[in-house]
Amino acid sequence: SGPDLFAPRRNSRGFDLSDATDLAAIEAARAPFRATIFEAGPRLAGAVQGDKRLGVPNSADGSLTGHVVTASLADVETALTAATPWGAPNRAEVLNRAADLYEANFGAIFALLAREAGKTLPDAVAELREAVDFLRYYAGGTQGTPRGVFACISPWNFPLAIFTGQVAAALASGNAVLAKPAEQTPLIAALAVDLLHQAGVPRAALQLLPGDGAVGAALTRDARVKGVAFTGSTETALLIRRSMAAHLDPGAPLIAETGGLNAMLVDSTALPEQAVRDVIAAAFQSAGQRCSALRCLYLQEDIAPHVLTMLQGAMETLSLGNPWGLETDIGPVIDAEAQKGIADYIAAARNEGRVLAELTAPKGGSFVAPVVLKVKGIAQMPREIFGPVLHVATFKAGEIPAVIASINATGYGLTFGLHTRIDDRVQEVVSNVHVGNVYVNRNQIGAVVGSQPFGGEGLSGTGPKAGGPHYLGRFVTGALPTVGG
Ligand code: GLU
Repeated sequence: SGPDLFAPRRNSRGFDLSDATDLAAIEAARAPFRATIFEAGPRLAGAVQGDKRLGVPNSADGSLTGHVVTASLADVETALTAATPWGAPNRAEVLNRAADLYEANFGAIFALLAREAGKTLPDAVAELREAVDFLRYYAGGTQGTPRGVFACISPWNFPLAIFTGQVAAALASGNAVLAKPAEQTPLIAALAVDLLHQAGVPRAALQLLPGDGAVGAALTRDARVKGVAFTGSTETALLIRRSMAAHLDPGAPLIAETGGLNAMLVDSTALPEQAVRDVIAAAFQSAGQRCSALRCLYLQEDIAPHVLTMLQGAMETLSLGNPWGLETDIGPVIDAEAQKGIADYIAAARNEGRVLAELTAPKGGSFVAPVVLKVKGIAQMPREIFGPVLHVATFKAGEIPAVIASINATGYGLTFGLHTRIDDRVQEVVSNVHVGNVYVNRNQIGAVVGSQPFGGEGLSGTGPKAGGPHYLGRFVTGALPTVGG
């Protein structure tokens, strides 16, 4: 019998931030990294040539987090030549050891997540747990034949968890990995790769190529790459698919998790306190920089004024600031370019008189204050705005089927939230909405590895879902169908 993804396995304990002992341990472990200047560059099974040496800024205050040497096209060639699929029988042991090393290095990891990616401490704790869970979950392996060399192209919004999830999946199934992390977050990726190497992953099985889109493009157009795992924008996924179609065998998979235009529907039977708490988390946690985040809230007309008043009150309790600070609920967005794009969008809505509620952003740093904008419906939203911007529309009781139809008509299908106490409504809505992850009477972010496989349909991704029993099957050929999922 092969490895078993259903074997008993525990998710990481993580840290309890309401426990003084845990908090003291975190403070002591991350303090030495508060001002460290990190240095990173390509990790190759061969000599590094390098392209540019760039500063990596802290988007909360503009200070320097470190430097990265980006990969040159010669480095990409070196990596492609050296890449060797990982046939070792002890892969599970090595990946589990890597998970232990990640946990042991929480001080440096939390410091980098705050300084390089703007993550608050609760977000950083959740992110480390998710990365560790991916390592242990995928270590269960799968049957089938490795495809060969995988390119893993990951985003800045989960620079440790999604980076690690892609890499661990490709490695656990016996492939070689060429990892291209997001331009904004190379330092945390380099730390992750160093820990994976330290755990025993051979350098020829895992190489790191920091850089911009040119590095990713060099990988995806190369016929030696037999599959691509990608998380990022829908537009980039389409470019990758085109580039792969020109050069790879038609069966080479693109495993993509992309954008969303996620809605939540709150009817008049919902508990307003609970709905408001979940809206705040789903729309504004991580400064709204999750593809799962709530973008369009539908409130039943008769409760809308009351819920909006409560929502505004709840927003006023949020604290924006440097993510290092324990009092901070919301940190900066990833960089000045993102900040400008979101600010321009909000300014246009303000000109149209559509601002319903808004906070004030701190000075300095790439902050965007959470804002609530009025819309007629999701059809009025031009695209995914990747920040703390919540749109609100209202509906009447008989309009639910039309609301669901307009949500489906966006073409995206990632997450959906429903607050109601009517059982039949849950059944009806859940069976009609076309999304990957539906959450009832809770928020719609923070899927948990192994229990809430995560991924969308349509413009939101190709599947299979990450952190679920079918994911590894795409990284091999001839996988047996998995039962029981
Ligand atoms: N898995 C994350 C969640 O459930 C979202 C991943 C993403 O933003 O790409 O919130």
